[in-house]
Amino acid sequence: MPELPEVETTRRGLAPHVEGQRVAAVILRRPDLRWPIPAEISTRLPGRRIRSVTRRAKYLLLDTDEGAALLHLGMSGALRVLPAATPIRAHDHVDIELDSGRVLRFNDPRRFGCLLWQPAGETHPLLAGLGPEPLSDAFDGAYLFRLSRGRRAPVKAFLMDQAAVVGVGNIYAAEALFLAGISPLRAAGKVSPERYERLAASVKTVLAHAIERGGTTLRDFIGPDGSPGYFEQELSVYGRGGEPCKACGRVLREQPIGQRASVWCPRCQR
Ligand SMILES: [Zn+2]
Repeated sequence: MPELPEVETTRRGLAPHVEGQRVAAVILRRPDLRWPIPAEISTRLPGRRIRSVTRRAKYLLLDTDEGAALLHLGMSGALRVLPAATPIRAHDHVDIELDSGRVLRFNDPRRFGCLLWQPAGETHPLLAGLGPEPLSDAFDGAYLFRLSRGRRAPVKAFLMDQAAVVGVGNIYAAEALFLAGISPLRAAGKVSPERYERLAASVKTVLAHAIERGGTTLRDFIGPDGSPGYFEQELSVYGRGGEPCKACGRVLREQPIGQRASVWCPRCQR
């Protein structure tokens, strides 16, 4: 599943080819993805110039003067910029044709992705109530400490709550907690300010590192064989339950927390 770094990598890959382009036409090969595609995508988007490609949480926004097309890659979605004549493959559901002669093509086999419309000056309900961006200055240890007081939920579940901070999925929550030396089971309200400083810094480190690695896949971004930018990663704990800790050699523990598989080192993480 695309996580925040993949979405940000996709945004950076698309931006140079999409920003400043006028939408020549929109082709919908089905009426819905996860949800019905609203009429505005066909009626308001064509003819508009895409001013910028931005990201909020794991949503991508194609911003125009009329409003923004709001895209989510879901479980299996991929966006690519291709020559307009590129033959259609299975699951190519949407084409946004650009006046450059290229097409922004959305492919999504499992259709958990979405394409929605946000009118100018409004915030789409899906974007309302979201916490701060993890790579922004608004996200720091003091913020986490303040918000977590009185919370008994495990700190890992707290970190994955989109109202607390957006885009910290299972992989990056596990990796950041390992880097910060905090047990994922510890009650969020029992973590000290100093340790939350370390946790916020660790979240930024693991996400920034992943985005940096993702950049190396962008070579192939344009072209029918282009990779959408989901990349191999060096992980310390995620997916390594029962294997030795890379720091101390102790066997990593695995147990679901909030119904999500969770792995941590019982010696390095307290
Ligand atoms: Zn360890």
